[in-house]
Amino acid sequence: MKAICVFCGSGSGSNPEYLQAACDLGNTLAERSITLIYGGGNVGLMGEIARAVMGMGGEVIGVIPRHLAEKKVAYEGITDLRLVETMHERKAMMAELAEGFIALPGGLGTLEEIAEVLTWAQLGLHPKPCGLLNVNGYFDHLSAFLDHMLIEGFLHPVHRGMVQVSSDINQLLAAFEVYHPPQADKAAWALKKNG
Ligand code: AMP
Repeated sequence: MKAICVFCGSGSGSNPEYLQAACDLGNTLAERSITLIYGGGNVGLMGEIARAVMGMGGEVIGVIPRHLAEKKVAYEGITDLRLVETMHERKAMMAELAEGFIALPGGLGTLEEIAEVLTWAQLGLHPKPCGLLNVNGYFDHLSAFLDHMLIEGFLHPVHRGMVQVSSDINQLLAAFEVYHPPQADKAAWALKKNG
């Protein structure tokens, strides 16, 4: 893999483990010569992971909408800072550039971004792996909610299985290397259920 997109908090969270995990993931990406694709911010876990990659001599591409860059939250010192006009353009560009997606702990922005790439995966729009780095059990409740979606019949088991979850960076990246996208897309499943 040459480029991975990381979605993560623009805040740092209340536990120092979150900042540490952002730093560790940044170091690992740089060591493996994997380019970090992210939202271009200089704050919170976003700033931490980008600083870690840059500090190790790695490559960072940040994609940030102009309205956020004007608020001085863009990280000017990264390899390639790309300005776009809208949040939608930003997400499309990050998705295009990356070969896989990892969510670190974060808030609504992080949740929205990882949910979007998973939605696109279940529609068969891309074949790229998506995972949650489960630092300090942060994603346990989200995993439980995904199980609830499955039990209640709104999420196909194959699509539940797409979501890679691990607290270990190397394990998550190893799972990405052997990932095969599901064959059944959501539209076909819905038709079959209703047919
Ligand atoms: P959140 O998890 O709510 O903190 O939002 C983080 C995600 O939303 C990031 O992955 C960014 O793409 C975007 N975002 C939210 N706030 C900022 C910010 N201050 N600077 C840059 N990107 C941000």
